[in-house]
Amino acid sequence: MQTSPLDIKPATWRQDEEISIFSDAAGQFFERECVPHVQDWRKAGIVPREIWTKAGQAGLLGASISEEYGGAGGDFRHEAIIIEQLQWKGVDGFGITLHNAIVAPYIEAYGTEEQKRRWLPKLASGELVAAIAMTEPGTGSDLQSIKTTAKKDGNGYVVNGQKTFITNGQTANFILVCAKTDSAEGAKGVSIVCVETDEAEGFRRGRNLEKLGQHAADTSELFFDDVKVPADNLLGEAEGRGFFQLMEKLPQERQIVAAQGMGMIERALSETIAYVKDRKAFGKSILEFQNTQFKLAECKTEATVAKVFVDRCTQLLVDGELDSATASMAKYWVTDLQCKIIDECLQLHGGYGYMDEYPIAQMYGDARVQRIYGGTNEIMKVLIARTL
Ligand SMILES: Cc1cc2nc3c(=O)[nH]c(=O)nc-3n(C[C@H](O)[C@H](O)[C@H](O)COP(=O)(O)OP(=O)(O)OC[C@H]3O[C@@H](n4cnc5c(N)ncnc54)[C@H](O)[C@@H]3O)c2cc1C
Repeated sequence: MQTSPLDIKPATWRQDEEISIFSDAAGQFFERECVPHVQDWRKAGIVPREIWTKAGQAGLLGASISEEYGGAGGDFRHEAIIIEQLQWKGVDGFGITLHNAIVAPYIEAYGTEEQKRRWLPKLASGELVAAIAMTEPGTGSDLQSIKTTAKKDGNGYVVNGQKTFITNGQTANFILVCAKTDSAEGAKGVSIVCVETDEAEGFRRGRNLEKLGQHAADTSELFFDDVKVPADNLLGEAEGRGFFQLMEKLPQERQIVAAQGMGMIERALSETIAYVKDRKAFGKSILEFQNTQFKLAECKTEATVAKVFVDRCTQLLVDGELDSATASMAKYWVTDLQCKIIDECLQLHGGYGYMDEYPIAQMYGDARVQRIYGGTNEIMKVLIARTL
């Protein structure tokens, strides 16, 4: 699918000619370099390392990193376009968005000048592949309760602990590790320590976890046993800022999940409309049954409402005005809708919808986690409820 099946006048932020050129270029890159291989990547459970380098050469990594730090100098609109193109083309599992739009912004926003100069150009080229490690076997939603520690030791930190469910976990060589620099404290004891894993003794990757969907994404356990990290690798100038840095940046992560959901909804609708026009039963196309028309009319209506809201949130984010509650609304509502629409679309495929070789079956598996990661949809409601 190249375009949206929705008939909406493009949001203002999309009307910039440069955005349209970027969208075409990103789409062509994914079409050429990824689409022919996606099914192999799903079987392998990982995307190959070379694709990161190719994306770096194509200017897609670091799309929103400033030019002075080796990036393309774009903003969140460019990331939103990458997300959309990945979803429209069904490129599941290439963790470029986590690298670009989740990890890099922490460095650009909170890193010291030296840290920005050291890491951002390598993130933009693909020399470094990024991950962020918050979740542990014993805690996910309750981030303040993490057990991983980063203890001051001479001129550095020693990191100990275990992380799980980490996206890009098998590939990443630059990991933002959320750890306690003061175990006696809750939120105030959390810091983010940047671990360059290529030469980190005591760092170990666990299993590439088998999942219900998103099979091409490598999702892993990570182990830190007395990993020595230079003091300069503490993100920012002071200890104990990690939780607050996360709270400031998580709205962007939630908007990303909403945008991913939106892109997949559009793909599911396109695939299904084409399928029901083609498939026949009782001498007519499936689309000619009024039930099919009503179901798809409902889906298209809800998708249209969602798209307007997601595009509005993108604009708010670009303007620096997307608050936590609004981002949470987008994340929870769009991902619930994503699962609902994909379920309806799968039903309209009949038995073929259950066959893994059909995109709708893959989308069904891929969509489910959207309600869980980036903060569960229940946690989104907790955040929204605080504004009541
Ligand atoms: C494919 C995948 C990729 C991921 N990628 C990453 C990654 O790159 N980095 C990373 O750090 N993490 C990652 N995660 C982890 C993800 O963010 C967590 O799984 C998620 O935050 C939930 O934490 P948990 O699994 O510990 O569930 P729990 O926190 O144990 O929650 C279990 C249930 O209890 C509910 N619950 C918890 N607290 C409350 C509350 N206060 N009120 C109401 N209900 C509540 C939850 O909503 C959920 O339904 C990934 C997870 C998956 C599955």
